[in-house]
Amino acid sequence: MKTTRLTLTGLLAALLLVSGAVWTLAQDEDRDIERIAGEVYRFRNKFHYSVFAVTPEGIIATDPINAEAAEWLKAALQRRFNQPVKYLIYSHEHPDHISGGEVFADTAIVVAHERAKAKIVGEQRRTAIPHLTFTDRMTLELGGTTVELSYVGRNHSDNSIVMRFPKERVLFAVDFIPVQAVAFRDFHDAYIEEWIDSLARVERLDFDILAPGHGRLGTKDHVRQFREYMQDLYGEVLKQARAGMSLEDMQETIRLPKYEKWFGYQSDNPRLNWFPMNIAGMYRYIQNHRRPN
Ligand SMILES: [Zn+2]
Repeated sequence: MKTTRLTLTGLLAALLLVSGAVWTLAQDEDRDIERIAGEVYRFRNKFHYSVFAVTPEGIIATDPINAEAAEWLKAALQRRFNQPVKYLIYSHEHPDHISGGEVFADTAIVVAHERAKAKIVGEQRRTAIPHLTFTDRMTLELGGTTVELSYVGRNHSDNSIVMRFPKERVLFAVDFIPVQAVAFRDFHDAYIEEWIDSLARVERLDFDILAPGHGRLGTKDHVRQFREYMQDLYGEVLKQARAGMSLEDMQETIRLPKYEKWFGYQSDNPRLNWFPMNIAGMYRYIQNHRRPN
């Protein structure tokens, strides 16, 4: 009897080890999964991140990133939680975040902003076409977990949404709120003034943890910091443009020391030296949208 019990205990321990090992196997150099809070997790594929929430009735997933990443995530979710993805929500329509949606479309309702759907269809993006769209707000509920989707205005795209998990106090926002990093390169396709307004809108939402689409986790205060960066950069470039300074001179002389520790402010790697590119993008925006005086 005692032997049997020991064997059972040993078996249970072995099973726990095995399930732990399987979870550990769901990580490699390029990909991993970490728990953020409660049932909300973060998935990394190289430098891209998405989040998902596990409920007793299935999984709410977000950006699939690409088909290979999505296949990996789907297998990991199956092994670890044995639950299908019931919702797949796109942060915005850029292909580096939302390719591969078809991997989850066998079980998931795909959700996006209505303009994201229009671009996915119009530009024949390689992903699942959204089944469900909205313009301002939408709340989804699955197995007792709620996610609130909000459109906060144009910023890095014209269809970026934020996803708030009120129970876990987590907000997922992609590409328009870097955490202690300057903006990516030169504001390609961006709406600068509306972007600043959209950051202020995000600051009014109720959450503690900011999960961005790139880089480390942050807090709500990082939204304020990035808004101030955008305002400071805008103000400085506008001032120098009005004074007749050339772009080259601006890139030589404009310094925002408050942000000098941020990623991308200064780098020996020209591909990561984003601050001069931010100045160029801001200058281009101001020339196209503001009279110099
Ligand atoms: Zn993007």
